[in-house]
Amino acid sequence: MQILYGLVLAVIVAYLAYRAHSLDKSGAFAAAFVGTTIFGIGGWQWATLLLIFFITSSGLSRAFKKRKQGLSEKFSKGHERDAGQVFGNGGLATIFATIHAFYPESIIPWIGFAASLAAVNADTWATELGVLNPTPPRMITDLKKRVEKGTSGGVSLWGTFASLLGASIIALPAALFTDNGLLFPLITFAGLAGSLFDSLLGATVQAMYYCPTDQKETEKHPFHTCGTETVHIRGWEWLNNDWVNFACGAFGAVIAFLII
Ligand SMILES: [Zn+2]
Repeated sequence: MQILYGLVLAVIVAYLAYRAHSLDKSGAFAAAFVGTTIFGIGGWQWATLLLIFFITSSGLSRAFKKRKQGLSEKFSKGHERDAGQVFGNGGLATIFATIHAFYPESIIPWIGFAASLAAVNADTWATELGVLNPTPPRMITDLKKRVEKGTSGGVSLWGTFASLLGASIIALPAALFTDNGLLFPLITFAGLAGSLFDSLLGATVQAMYYCPTDQKETEKHPFHTCGTETVHIRGWEWLNNDWVNFACGAFGAVIAFLII
């Protein structure tokens, strides 16, 4: 029965997000699948964490539009998230919800679920709010080097603070729902670590391209926003932004497991 409630709620949320242009068609189907699984298996506590991530990340993508104008082309995708982005952010959480179905007594799947969501939430908050930092970010692999706002691997004080907030807003209900106060610092730290790992991958092995027309570095491939075909300049070609997000969540979960 709970699966049915999950399906109804997930389809409604996915449809509203599609109408609001937060998701494209493939993203809406992916979100309906992720939401049905997580709500259907885990119930309202699991659904709450997912919704906090989903609502705040969609909202922050829209906020401060003026400040971010011109930056969006640096990011590989616009505001409409597709299936790759949904699974990159929520795929691991879906796997932990499925494991919970087999081990309902264990708290381990809950910790993995919360840590992976805290990591992708921290990363999204850092990306969306980091652009408000008054000065350009610094490269995570070389803090003396300033880079253009929006560059993968760039970190800033504001971004890191936003990341901490983004992780803690997931960690708080994760601790409250299980009546386990230790989960708050654990999940917050794991989330922050995951988002820093995301920046590290962005600075090193994530696939990066170059637009010859605009003479700019971009994550976009095969085509830039201007329509020009982009050229691979560094990083592993298979490691696109979706896989980096997946790795961000995975790193958060691994850190949480290592600590406990
Ligand atoms: Zn271009």
